[in-house]
This record gives sequence, C-alpha cells and structure tokens, in this order.
Amino acid sequence: MKAIQVQRFGGPEVMELHDLPTPTPGPGQVLVRQMAIGVNFIDVYRRTGLYQVKLPEVPGMEGAGTVEAVGAEVKSPRPGDRVAYANLPGTYAELAVIPAERTVALPGRIAFEQAAAVILQGMTAHYLVYDTCPLQKGDVVLVHAAAGGVGLLLVQTARMRGATVVATVSTAEKAGLARDAGAHQIILYTEKDFVAEVRRLTGGAGVRAVFDSVGKDTFMKSLDCLSPRGMLVSFGQSSGKVEGFDPLMLSAKGSLYLTRPVLGHYVADTESLRRRAGTVLGWVARGTLKVRIGAKFPLADAAEAHRQLEARKTAGKVLLIP
Ligand code: NDP
Repeated sequence: MKAIQVQRFGGPEVMELHDLPTPTPGPGQVLVRQMAIGVNFIDVYRRTGLYQVKLPEVPGMEGAGTVEAVGAEVKSPRPGDRVAYANLPGTYAELAVIPAERTVALPGRIAFEQAAAVILQGMTAHYLVYDTCPLQKGDVVLVHAAAGGVGLLLVQTARMRGATVVATVSTAEKAGLARDAGAHQIILYTEKDFVAEVRRLTGGAGVRAVFDSVGKDTFMKSLDCLSPRGMLVSFGQSSGKVEGFDPLMLSAKGSLYLTRPVLGHYVADTESLRRRAGTVLGWVARGTLKVRIGAKFPLADAAEAHRQLEARKTAGKVLLIP
C-alpha cells in the first residue's frame, strides 16, 4: 500500500511516499480502506520531534473509510461498514489498522470527507466548552486562531453554550470566516494588540475563558485578557512551545485557572468516545455544526499540506485523499 512515512524528525520534506506491506488486522483490530484523512497540527509536532515519537512512523491521527477485513474476536464493525476514528497514529496511508473499539460508526448521511474533517477537531471543540470549561449563557470568551480547523468549530460550540465569542485571526479573509461561524467580535491580532482590544470590548472586565491554541506568541498576553478567576485553556502551540511559566502569575493576575487538556483524556474509554463522537456527528448530520473543508491534497502531497498549514495559509480543515 502507498503510505507516507517519517524516518527522521524535520521539516515537511521528511514525509515521503513509500510502498509498505499491506497490514493485517490482529485480534481486536480492523483494516480500513481510507477514503479521507484528516490533517491536524499535532501531525506537525510529531513530525518535527516536538512530541517525541518512535520512528519510523506513518503520521496522521484521523481518517474515515470502509472496513475491508477484521481480525479475530471482532464482532463489530463488519467488513463493508463505514467508520471514522481519531487520535490514533498511522493514518497517512491507503489502509489503516484500527482497534475495533476505537471506531465510530458513520451514519449514511455523513460523507467520508465530512467525517474525516470533523471527528478529531469536532470532539475537541465539544470537550473544551462542555467539560474543560463548561460555558454558561452570558459568558464572554476569547478564541484564538478562530478560522482554523478547531477554531471554526470552537466558535460554533461556544455559541451553542450561549457564550459571546471574541475571536482572533490573522487576515481579513479569515475574519470573514470567523464571523460566518458566529463570532461576535473579531480582532486581527496581527495588526492590533489583542489584550487592549479585549479590555476595550469588555469595558475593562476581561473574559471568563481564553481558548489558546497558538501557544508561545499568545500565552502570556492571554492571561492578561481574563477576568478574576477566569480560565486559560491552553490546548495547543502552533506558534511554538510555551516556556518559563511561573504559577505565581496566576495569583498576581486574579486567581486564574490554567489547564492544558488533550483530547485523549476526554475520550479515554469506548463509551465516552462514541458518546462524544455521536453528538458531534449528529450535529453535522442535522446541519447544527458546519464543517469547512478548506483544502484537499492527494496523499502523496502531504508535505505540501503541512507547508500550508504551518504557513498559516489554510482556513478550516485540511484533508488528504488517498
Ligand atoms: P489550525 O487550522 O488552527 O492551524 C493553526 C492556526 O494557528 C493557523 O492557521 C494560524 O491562524 C494560527 N497560528 C498563529 N500563529 C501561528 C504560527 N506561528 N504558525 C502557525 N500557525 C499559527 O490547526 P488545527 O485546527 O489542526 O489545530 C489548532 C490547534 O489546536 C493546534 O495548536 C493543535 O495542536 C490544537 N489541538 C489541540 C487538541 C487538544 O486536544 N489539546 C486537539 C486538536 C487540536 P491565524 O492565521 O488566524 O493566526
């Protein structure tokens, strides 16, 4: 099968297309012929070595396709079933071996591309506002990189909770997308000081929560946007790793809360995975949650997909098509 493989940490060029042996599903596993593969920023962290993974690795943590074969002891899903999955390594390939209990059945109304575009980032947008920082009607929140894959979904889920959403983006075009997703206020953080803007927009009060996936460039300033006892949800580092943080800052800036959540802990068992995924896919099927596929690349062009994602040229979801 054709697959992208990373043999050493580095830039996008370390992702090369190889012919790898067709994998065989072991006990409890299924073999999926993938129809669409989700690209996520975590794929960049794993490729560069920011997250140390064992090499060689087939990158990718998300996909959707049809079950082609099942291993011993697998009762469900069955060959021919349509499934999606997230948070499992090895999806930049024509075929992927997935633990049966980590698959999510796809309703017929959901296309493979939609599923691969939403399962990981949609569950992220869900857990952040329902569980990490359960928002309430009237809360004002700040969402950074609001036109990104997670960003556009997070704006929508925060609105579902009744929050007022202030969004940051880098360009006027991305501002339009964030506004279409439901953001009430948009700040071009490449042009304006977002701390001053947040203070101005909230009459000096600050926001209840900041959802910060940008990391290094925004982390410290995000603390300055919070109202007393507000929460900084630091859930990514697309601009680089946050370093040199002193917990005393949390007291000085207003008894703040800081959390650094990851999806894996919010879908740890099969039941929580399927419940969360079912909610998100249900929203997509009903049109309550809009998924924007911003770019599609052939599997062989995974390196180019990463170049564009890292250069902030993408908006919404990036997919690879085998
Ligand atoms: P995005 O589509 O959001 O792409 C990243 C965006 O970050 C860019 O488009 C850009 O938006 C913004 N950005 C700001 N500074 C930089 C920079 N220096 N370099 C690159 N991008 C920058 O990616 P994803 O939706 O895949 O992921 C968003 C974030 O969410 C990532 O940090 C990811 O790790 C995190 N994440 C965390 C999860 C968790 O459970 N903790 C799960 C899923 C994602 P703009 O141009 O508007 O500034």
